[in-house]
Amino acid sequence: SLDLAKLDLKSLVRTIPDYPKKGILFRDITTLIEHPEGFKESVERIANAHRGQGVTHVAGIEARGFIFGAGVAIAMGVGFIPIRKKGKLPGETIGQNYALEYGVDTIEIHADVLDDGDVVLLVDDLIATGGTAIAAVGLLRRTGATITHAAFVIDLPDLGGAAKLAAEGVEVTALIA
Ligand code: AMP
Repeated sequence: SLDLAKLDLKSLVRTIPDYPKKGILFRDITTLIEHPEGFKESVERIANAHRGQGVTHVAGIEARGFIFGAGVAIAMGVGFIPIRKKGKLPGETIGQNYALEYGVDTIEIHADVLDDGDVVLLVDDLIATGGTAIAAVGLLRRTGATITHAAFVIDLPDLGGAAKLAAEGVEVTALIA
């Protein structure tokens, strides 16, 4: 039978060159989540890495962070918070702008979703430059909540995102580098 502890998650991620534009190696997690043990193991390994840290909520970044973050929240027995792109949440929101290669984007959460006794684990599929995750940490912290850990399925260490998060007091775990 398959030894799940030894399952090689890296081999389940597909690399598509030149998407969404020339020169980018796109790390495609659809092949990982389509694999039943691959998806389950990804979620469980993240949840296991963050037990005992007092986590009260998992926050996932739209859209691929929802897939893994929702599973991690269920596995850890805590609630899930969607960090959405601008204009998608129905209640009163707070937002954070961040720089893209060309232009800016905005992420939002509901204004009343967290407060200062809460401890949030941030989840996304991949960290590259860290710009998206840094913006998410800043946004979550404005509620008074504590964010000391962030988890990713994939880290691209050469792009320095994990080091940038560490400098903000957020320790990064990743299943694949
Ligand atoms: P960054 O803000 O530079 O850390 O970029 C992280 C976000 O962009 C994540 O939400 C990823 O899903 C996406 N992303 C960046 N680079 C890649 C890549 N090479 N392959 C797949 N997704 C990527």
